[in-house]
Amino acid sequence: MGLQSYRAKRTFSTSPEPKGRLQRSTHGRLRFVVQKHAARTLHYDFRLELDGVLKSWAVPKGPSSNPKIKRLAIMVEDHPYEYRNFEGVIPEGYGAGTVKIWDQGTYSVEGNSKRESERLIRQGLKKGVIHFSLEGERLHGQFALVQLTGRGNQWLLIKQKDAPPPPKKKRTTSRSSTRKSA
Ligand code: MN
Repeated sequence: MGLQSYRAKRTFSTSPEPKGRLQRSTHGRLRFVVQKHAARTLHYDFRLELDGVLKSWAVPKGPSSNPKIKRLAIMVEDHPYEYRNFEGVIPEGYGAGTVKIWDQGTYSVEGNSKRESERLIRQGLKKGVIHFSLEGERLHGQFALVQLTGRGNQWLLIKQKDAPPPPKKKRTTSRSSTRKSA
């Protein structure tokens, strides 16, 4: 999609938002961010790094960590990679209101390298379903974004049930094995 649509909607002489450019991330892992945006209608912008930009969805009620709760997520224009660090007040005009980072961290498609994760996300976006694992401060574990058929830019953000942790090896209890875990 590129950043044409992002730029066309904004006036950078008045908005503090980054103009942005396509850039490869310098970070070793793919990044995600969720920004709380107190615009005319409060929502949460959920963004995943892909191919040097942030794929973006506006989630009116915000992400939920409860697998039983599906959250509507409206796909919006790609945002520049540096937007992940943006916090501030957008003046009158497009998106007017305060933006604050609500969560941030890294993501991957479970068990895959950055390059392979990006390939799988790219492919999944075309098919209308992506699965990924978040490592944030608030959000952890498996999530999915599923496009609603025939509804264009409407997707659902859903927490997936995480695999149970591997069983702990049974140890015979003795004084020497009693240690405080970190
Ligand atoms: Mn927004």
